[in-house]
Amino acid sequence: MRILIALAAALMVAGATTAQAAAPAVMAAPNINGANVKAHLTQLQSIASANGGNRAHGRPGYLASVNWVKSKLDAAGFTTRVQSFTYGGATGYNLIADYPGGDANNVVMLGGHLDSVTSGPGINDNGTGSASILEVALQMKATNFKPTKHVRFGWWGAEELGLRGSRAYVNSLSSTEKSRIKAYLNFDMTGSPNPGYFVYDGTEHKPVIPGSVDLQKRLEAGFASFGVPTELTLVNGRSDHAAFTAAGIATGGTFTGAEKIKTTAQAQKWGGTAGQAFDRCYHRSCDTMSNINDTALDRNADVIAWTLWATAA
Ligand SMILES: [Zn+2]
Repeated sequence: MRILIALAAALMVAGATTAQAAAPAVMAAPNINGANVKAHLTQLQSIASANGGNRAHGRPGYLASVNWVKSKLDAAGFTTRVQSFTYGGATGYNLIADYPGGDANNVVMLGGHLDSVTSGPGINDNGTGSASILEVALQMKATNFKPTKHVRFGWWGAEELGLRGSRAYVNSLSSTEKSRIKAYLNFDMTGSPNPGYFVYDGTEHKPVIPGSVDLQKRLEAGFASFGVPTELTLVNGRSDHAAFTAAGIATGGTFTGAEKIKTTAQAQKWGGTAGQAFDRCYHRSCDTMSNINDTALDRNADVIAWTLWATAA
């Protein structure tokens, strides 16, 4: 008995010493280069232009988008897979990408939908979220980020037809696999031309998932660190986080506004035009490269990186 206590004490001392010696300096999140995100958007615009003007479910521009994003991630050393599903008589695809390493029982996931509506190329909705998480993923590799948690990305199909891809993904997971996902962060429309800076309200889902409030606060802290005021928004299950929330997984996200009208108070706080929609080209053919606010796009990309580094480190 005695020797066990002594041994335990010795181990504790050794452990403490080791921990001190091995503790790395806290790695700051990289500042994401907005020009890199714009370059990805230009690729998505080119893919739409070459495929009948859209990147919609069941149309060739969608699968071309999946293949292009996949090629970038494969080149950066991610483990990728394409999950297919069927909706409305057409095959849909989700792209799943795992960053090597980290605790497989403690997964942080980021996602956004890669499909557009049929009426346009979907550059703000949701080229922006898709391109931003792609650039953040590439910067994980470029900065040699070694998070303690496992990080996974998802680009979802057929969101515009009722969140079909993200639901297919969550439904494909066993209860054990679901329980390993501790957080899901969703990015859908992060470069609206008349932008607001909205963070998903972590209390939207009832009963409230405590981890969702933590993610909300972290996203708010990210914007605050860049001096950007935010408002909470009730997304009311209008994007892909809904499937994760329904599975009891903590979720959060950011949004720069769609068809709703910017108020005078919001224009005073954020600039832009009161009395006008956050995105006048929402679900229209004019959702092109000229439908992007560069500052909103860059700030959101920075907050995505900031929040991922803070959540997964
Ligand atoms: Zn969307």
